[in-house]
Amino acid sequence: MHAYQHFWHTGNPIELPLGKIVCVGRNYAAHAKELNNPVSDTPLLFMKPATAATVMEQPIHLPQGRGEVHFETELAVLIGKPLTDATEKDVRGAILGFGLALDLTLRDVQSQLKAKGQPWERAKAFDGACPLSPFVPAEALDPKEPITFALDIDGHRHQRGTTQEMLFPIVPLIAHISEHFTLMPGDVVLTGTPEGVGALHQGQKLTLQLGEELLIDTRIA
Ligand code: ZN
Repeated sequence: MHAYQHFWHTGNPIELPLGKIVCVGRNYAAHAKELNNPVSDTPLLFMKPATAATVMEQPIHLPQGRGEVHFETELAVLIGKPLTDATEKDVRGAILGFGLALDLTLRDVQSQLKAKGQPWERAKAFDGACPLSPFVPAEALDPKEPITFALDIDGHRHQRGTTQEMLFPIVPLIAHISEHFTLMPGDVVLTGTPEGVGALHQGQKLTLQLGEELLIDTRIA
């Protein structure tokens, strides 16, 4: 397996190591509802290791024989400074870039784990479970405007999201995460998926869009 590396949307490498990917579940009410999950008053957090990351434009290989693999399209935040018990001001100064991620999920495995009250790593942290797009510098996006993103599969829109619909908005969410786990430069935070998740199948063509800034084509190998 090739080691994953972060890139800017210009194609230049970002010289920061990916240590971990911290993810939030159920950050959009409509998605929590579609999976019959309750929404809570504190964010549901889990992690993916660096070995889960792949370059999104490369063909995506699905695990075989482990049931359905679902796509979850998520806004990804690239951290540029260490954050421990951070204030919201610290967080604003530490966001280096924005990109897109697929939080690939073995949904059948996850359902079995949930039923047994077990952790989700087998369903969420496998090799290749986190295709990541190149990143757009944070300054390129207007902080006062909502960030929007979308996923098309074979020309049909399946998911669209906007930061306006997040139950836990990005800056307080990252401040909260930093109270539990120190975030290091190169770490990535996935901010949850909007509704419309579903199973991936071999041969599908995916197009992911982040505002006007990024357009990524990839396919399921
Ligand atoms: Zn997710």
